Amino acid sequence: MNKKIVAATLGVLSATPAGAQTIEIVANGSPKSAPGSSQYFGGHAVVTPLLAPNETTKASLGLVTFSPGARTAWHTHPAGQLLIVSAGQGWLQQEGQERRTINAGDVVWIPAGVKHWHGATATSPMSHYAMTYFAGDKNVDWMEQVADKQYEAP
Ligand code: MN
Repeated sequence: MNKKIVAATLGVLSATPAGAQTIEIVANGSPKSAPGSSQYFGGHAVVTPLLAPNETTKASLGLVTFSPGARTAWHTHPAGQLLIVSAGQGWLQQEGQERRTINAGDVVWIPAGVKHWHGATATSPMSHYAMTYFAGDKNVDWMEQVADKQYEAP
């Protein structure tokens, strides 16, 4: 290696400020997907963890894909949850309200402490990204499963 190349290489290296962090790309297909626990999901769901919380976001990001008929159990989030529906059509319900339909492209904000469930419709799969915010070391409180009668009620 001649002196010019060495100098150029050092120049590139020293252009990164000391202590600067590096942008992270989570490549599609690199995180390990796993079936959603039957303790927290009814039916078949696949969960792909994408990003762990950090000092700035204090939230985890995951992709959840629900087969038709699949849904979460009832639950709350101590600091809220952002859902970005990326494929298909799903249902979500807030306790005490009617079930609502969500479609690919919809964005949903679930405020802290609001009891709810989300999932596919009975006939369509649904995928959503879920950004789930932490209060301390917790981002969800799981409750009872959604009974078929509740799930199917229009
Ligand atoms: Mn939720």
